[in-house]
Amino acid sequence: MNGSESLAFKILVGADGVNSIVRRYLKIPVEKRLIGIQYLVPGDFEPRLEIFLNSRLFGPWYAWIFPHKDSIAVGTVCAPRFYPAKKLKENFHRWLRLRKLDISNAIYQSWPISYDYRGFRFGNVFLAGEAAGLASGLSGEGIYQSLVSGETVARTILDKSYHSADFDRVLHYNDVQLRFIKILIKAGWLRGAIQALIIMALNNPVIQKRISNSFS
Ligand SMILES: Cc1cc2nc3c(=O)[nH]c(=O)nc-3n(C[C@H](O)[C@H](O)[C@H](O)COP(=O)(O)OP(=O)(O)OC[C@H]3O[C@@H](n4cnc5c(N)ncnc54)[C@H](O)[C@@H]3O)c2cc1C
Repeated sequence: MNGSESLAFKILVGADGVNSIVRRYLKIPVEKRLIGIQYLVPGDFEPRLEIFLNSRLFGPWYAWIFPHKDSIAVGTVCAPRFYPAKKLKENFHRWLRLRKLDISNAIYQSWPISYDYRGFRFGNVFLAGEAAGLASGLSGEGIYQSLVSGETVARTILDKSYHSADFDRVLHYNDVQLRFIKILIKAGWLRGAIQALIIMALNNPVIQKRISNSFS
């Protein structure tokens, strides 16, 4: 497959992540990508997950503080085709300074996340997880999508007529998030007001329950 060695297969499954060799073998490009940047900041912090919406700094995307045992992960994400990664990085550092978060001892990480889904079955070649582009284009989450698609691929190999309702829900979930991001991109200066409404909605117990049920 790499031009120097030939491999034979009956069925090939690519679950090899965002830089999938199997996807490249299928000549399926990855055009829809997020870029994530994150600092792992060592220290004792309150064990609280925080999400920050700030249209001026992060456009339609967001920043997070994610608690770990002896550190926090502070990061943000954007799709460079709509929002330049350089601008995101500058704004992110501005935001870190405003929040007085000291990153002098932090570990910097940067990574791509693919949300360019174009199918999971290509004859006798299958793609699962991020190789299939199954992460969310809004939040960048992709663990659940990867698990469901992995199971779907395995069951489809065993039974050609297999159909997964969970996989349908994953596709629907990603699609809703993509539509939502398009609305936020088009909203321009109104985006801040929409995000304020989202925050109000997220504080509503009924909506909170619906969101938590959507993946359980
Ligand atoms: C820093 C970070 C934070 C994230 N946080 C979240 C989160 O909080 N929630 C969430 O839902 N998602 C999160 N995501 C996204 C999520 O991690 C990915 O969408 C998910 O892990 C994709 O799973 P995967 O199995 O498809 O790919 P991966 O997890 O990337 O696994 C692919 C595997 O294939 C292996 N591999 C690659 N090439 C080869 C090869 N040639 N031969 C053999 N093995 C190979 C790799 O070593 C790797 O182990 C995060 C991503 C990053 C980078």
